[in-house]
Amino acid sequence: MRLLEFSKQFGGEEACKQYFKEFREKQGLKCSKCGCTDFHWIPSHDRWQCKECMKQISLRSGTLLEASKLPYHYWIYAIFLMVNTKKGISALEMQRQLGHKRYEPIWAMMHKIRQSMGNRDDRYQLDKIVEFDDAFVKTSSDYKEDDTYGKRKGRGTLSKTPIAMMASTSKGSEKVQEKKNKKSTKLRFVKMKVIEDQTSESFEKVVATNVNESSTLVTDGFRSYSICINM
Ligand SMILES: [Zn+2]
Repeated sequence: MRLLEFSKQFGGEEACKQYFKEFREKQGLKCSKCGCTDFHWIPSHDRWQCKECMKQISLRSGTLLEASKLPYHYWIYAIFLMVNTKKGISALEMQRQLGHKRYEPIWAMMHKIRQSMGNRDDRYQLDKIVEFDDAFVKTSSDYKEDDTYGKRKGRGTLSKTPIAMMASTSKGSEKVQEKKNKKSTKLRFVKMKVIEDQTSESFEKVVATNVNESSTLVTDGFRSYSICINM
């Protein structure tokens, strides 16, 4: 959905609040006091009231919006923008888009959304110069302290899981490079993903989803190495 269609569907604050109310009702409400699932809506207070025990639930309680004073349309627009922008959106840009005076509440809102969206890493695409390597992670259910790479002393089964390692780097300044007389690179982000196997199809698949298409991909001839981790 494009932003224009989105704003047509959701419109202003009232429409967003209505959407949020219906969304919660669809998910189902349950009274924390008596367990009843029958409620009636009190529009003047933005609350539901339990038909059995009269306990009230506010529209925001028990959701991400609880304790937030920001309007409903901020939240809905922010979620839309964060899900639909390929490279992500900064809190400063979000603040500008929403036309809000203060930065901190916008930052806090985005932080909560990001947390609820799960692993941010899964949505973040590496860019600039990306170094790619494939590797194995040795996993074992019976790991011992004295185990070393390739020289396993402990008992238990050892299995190899192929992973792709991608590191996004940026070149250091020319001056630093001259001084040290060697390439200076700065590590920006690292991603490790489990892949099905070490075929070029699997590599292409993992690169397509995790690396921005404008990046320069640097490989080291698909050198394999191992890391031992305790599972
Ligand atoms: Zn109740």
